[in-house]
Amino acid sequence: MIEEQDGKYLGGLTPLPEDIIRDKIKNIDEHRAHETAEMMCVKCYYRYQGVWPEQTLLKNLECPHCKKTGGIIKTGQTIFDT
Ligand SMILES: [Zn+2]
Repeated sequence: MIEEQDGKYLGGLTPLPEDIIRDKIKNIDEHRAHETAEMMCVKCYYRYQGVWPEQTLLKNLECPHCKKTGGIIKTGQTIFDT
């Protein structure tokens, strides 16, 4: 939409109303596919239930206990096994 005011061209786009911005625009990262599994850090042996974005490589995950990266592996145990 082209707007004019006092004969001046104001631009070709009209900003969206605040309520539409707040209600309609979502964080895309919250909707990306995720994986979950029991994980273990081979550096400190800490085990935990991990949730991470599907496209993230395991070698890039950080241990929540020792904070090191590169040592996280899946244990192969599902969350339903006890
Ligand atoms: Zn660790």
